[in-house]
Amino acid sequence: MEEKMRKLTTAIVFLAFFILVYTAASAPAQKLKIDSAGNNPNLPTVAIITTGGTIAEKTDPKTGGAVPAVSGKDLVEAVPGLLKLANIKVAQYSNIDSSHMTPELWAGLSRTVDGLLKDPKTSGAVVTHGTDTIATGAYFLDLTLQSSKPVVFAGAMRDASDLSPDGPANIYNAVLQAASPEAKDLGVTVTMNQYINSARNVRKTQSTNVQTFNSGEHGYLGYIEQGKVHRYNEAPERQKIPLPEKLPEVALLKSYAGDDGRFVRYAVDTGAKAIVVEAVGAGNVNAKVYEAIEYAMGKGVPVAITTRVYHGGVWPIYGDKGGGETLQKAGAILAGDLTSPKARILLMLALPHTKGNFKETAKFFE
Ligand code: ASP
Repeated sequence: MEEKMRKLTTAIVFLAFFILVYTAASAPAQKLKIDSAGNNPNLPTVAIITTGGTIAEKTDPKTGGAVPAVSGKDLVEAVPGLLKLANIKVAQYSNIDSSHMTPELWAGLSRTVDGLLKDPKTSGAVVTHGTDTIATGAYFLDLTLQSSKPVVFAGAMRDASDLSPDGPANIYNAVLQAASPEAKDLGVTVTMNQYINSARNVRKTQSTNVQTFNSGEHGYLGYIEQGKVHRYNEAPERQKIPLPEKLPEVALLKSYAGDDGRFVRYAVDTGAKAIVVEAVGAGNVNAKVYEAIEYAMGKGVPVAITTRVYHGGVWPIYGDKGGGETLQKAGAILAGDLTSPKARILLMLALPHTKGNFKETAKFFE
């Protein structure tokens, strides 16, 4: 009898766990408390959606510590002159360090931003996000948002208690960009320290300095100065993927000298639906990793190859066992110059539409 009860309790706990995981994965748009500031009928309206990280914080005079400032009033007070740019609607989506972000939270964020942009009075949106994963989060929304209105991601490297915080100026510039008719067609951007980067190409390159985000060889889309958006480069062609109900599990593994491919096999054996292997150089792995990749593909698990190298991407150049050319011939996807975390996001979004078909999945990377 006791044994039966134990089994029943375990089953109930497991069921509850799966329901929880499933609910999180299909995170719907949240019903948000929206806080408005400014009411000038001659100005555009910009929605600011806060998710956490350093940017939405300011010093609490009582404790001296940095705390979230997410109400419309707090945000506007922290950013002088904001109401001269736009009427502001503020909604708090989450309040977490961005190292805690998940693809499911980004899915919910995408639905939430789309929900707010449906309002014809809202010209664009600013999403405040921790800088550690802002590049991947922005890319997720660039791929999945249905709305084509401007969406500007902004963060801060220094919090409000720092000697020279960068958050207020970054929010100011992000709102300016979101409200600027001349910056309407830039897709989703990460705009920090006056530089505008496309979500696809942006990377964080310095762990503590305010000038950390750049777009590598693709260059900045523009620069904000004297209250104006100055355009430099065209935005990359935007890829739009309908947001799937459920996101598959995709592993991300880095190959290294002496790698015997065991983690690739482990990922396959423990249920990964696709794998990103971060290779070296122009997309090369050693013979043992190559065999493990063959093992994965033999089991129907697509593998995308990225590189640890900062510029240039992966190409089918080398024809030895594990070389990029051999990998591609064997059916692996060469992910171009997408970073590994972004290649992972693209696989997650593509797979439900391609049912894992290698060729169809590879088309998403062309
Ligand atoms: N730890 C922070 C985050 O990514 C860093 C930042 O926001 O700048 O949430």
